[in-house]
This record gives sequence, C-alpha cells and structure tokens, in this order.
Amino acid sequence: MPASQTKPLADTLIDTWAQQGRDGFLLSDPQTVAIETAHALDESCGVNFRFRWMPHREVRGDVKELERRGILNAQRDESKLFRDPRDPHQRHCFLCEANIRECHPMERLVPLELAGRAYFAGANFAWIEHDHYTVMSAEHTDQAYSQHALEAMAGLHARTDGRFRVLFNGPGAGASIPWHLHYQITTTPMPIEEMTVGQESAYPTAVQRFVGPERLAAAHAVIDAWLSRDRDNHSMNVLIAGPADDTTIFFFARDQRRAKATNKGLVGGFEVAGDFVLSAPSEEAAFRSATPALARDILNQVRPDGV
Ligand SMILES: [Zn+2]
Repeated sequence: MPASQTKPLADTLIDTWAQQGRDGFLLSDPQTVAIETAHALDESCGVNFRFRWMPHREVRGDVKELERRGILNAQRDESKLFRDPRDPHQRHCFLCEANIRECHPMERLVPLELAGRAYFAGANFAWIEHDHYTVMSAEHTDQAYSQHALEAMAGLHARTDGRFRVLFNGPGAGASIPWHLHYQITTTPMPIEEMTVGQESAYPTAVQRFVGPERLAAAHAVIDAWLSRDRDNHSMNVLIAGPADDTTIFFFARDQRRAKATNKGLVGGFEVAGDFVLSAPSEEAAFRSATPALARDILNQVRPDGV
C-alpha cells in the first residue's frame, strides 16, 4: 500500500500546511514569524484568555500584494468565477473548488469524505492558528447548521485522532461566507478547553458542554431547539475538541443582532472559545491593554438576551 494511504490524516494535514508555508502560500511563514501573545487569566471562570497581535493578516485584503506573491492568480479569468446571486458585493465564492483552482493555483486541496459528503481542506492563507484550514463542502450549499454538519465535524475530529479542533460559525456569528458550508480546523488548543466542568455559568458568554456517548444527540437537540426558537435571529458557534476517546462538544448560543463587539468587530468561534486575534491598526491599543476585563467585555457583548 502506498505511504499516502497509510499516513494518518492529521499528519497529512500538518505536513501539507507546513509545505504551504514553504511554498509562500501562507501570508507569513509560521516557522519564522514573530507573533506577540498576551494571556489574561480570568479568576472567575478559570480560563486563561489569549490575545495575539498578527498584523501580517492585513495583507489578506491587498489584492495587488496577493497577486505579486502569487497567492492570488493575477491572470485569473473573472468571467469563469461563480458568484452567489445573494452576495450583495457580487464577490466570487471563495470556497468553491473551481474558483479556488482558478484564483489560487498554489493552494493544495486535501479531499475528504465526512458524514457521507465530499469536502476539501484548504490551508487558510490568512491563518490565525497553527495548521489552520478551512474545510469546505464540495457542493456550494448554505452555511446552515444541520445534524449533518455536526456529524461531519465530529467525524473529522475523530479521524484526526483528536489532534485537530473543529469549529463552526453560524451566519451572523463570525461566518464570513454564509453561502457555502465550511468549518475551521486547527491543532492549537483553545483556552476554553481548560475550563473546569461546572464553571460554564461563570463564563462571560453562553456556553454549554456535551460529553459522553450520547453527546452528539444531546448537543443536536439543544442546538436545534435554540435555532427553532427564532429562525430569523438565532445562530451559534460549535467547537469540538479533546482527546478522541473523551471528546467535548461546546455549543455557544448566538444572536445575529449581537454579531460584533467594540474592540474586536465580528466575533466568531475562536473568540467565543477565548482566543482573540487582533491585526488591524485600530486594534493594536486593545492588544496592548489586554486584560481579563477586556475579554469578558467582548464576550458579554455577544451574549444573547436571556441566556
Ligand atoms: Zn461556493
């Protein structure tokens, strides 16, 4: 059997991501870039919040620089690119395979089958975490929560032997592309993983944790009930983490009317899990003054009413 068929999936993903750094596809080389990190231990819930200053990410919006580096194909044929008619800016879909192959020829897509459907994992060039991939469905279908999505996430976590964390951002809860189903994955631990069981009520935003053999069904029932209560406004984040034999599903109830926080902008799955990446010049002051109170303030602002 060829080595590629026996290599664990987590190793394939980690090796491919490192190669994408050497290829120059990632905005900065993770081996050499200096990233300033500040920790802020919140005594009330026991979570050591993490703030990171990553100004290199700002290049992600600089088309000329992306083209100069070859991250974005300067010769792309715009007429070939699929655009979701609902996108008010009429941007091409960043997650459709055909668009990626036309726009990002350096990107190495890793094919996956999750819960019976085809997906691709592609290194996130504006990476936030180590081994940070976007995992996108092969089909252009909405970023809507479903039992399939939860099962696909759990399956991916299990297939990496628990080495990758898997996150889902619902619409209005950090999802930048609501038209195409996708997850974020990384090997970097999230601060909330260290929170002691029973401390959930002291966490600054709404979180519920599901463990044990019935965790998938239990989490799905609670998430579905939350979304059903207000289909127009309710949304959510999910994080699946922990060792493969003792997996935890974290569910964060969200409300699309509370999508953003001052000092941070859009709040998604990484932030609600206690990880704050700051990169814009306007955010540097917040990074320099990172405290547990700042983390609590950001998370309090996205806490839904009555939860
Ligand atoms: Zn798409």
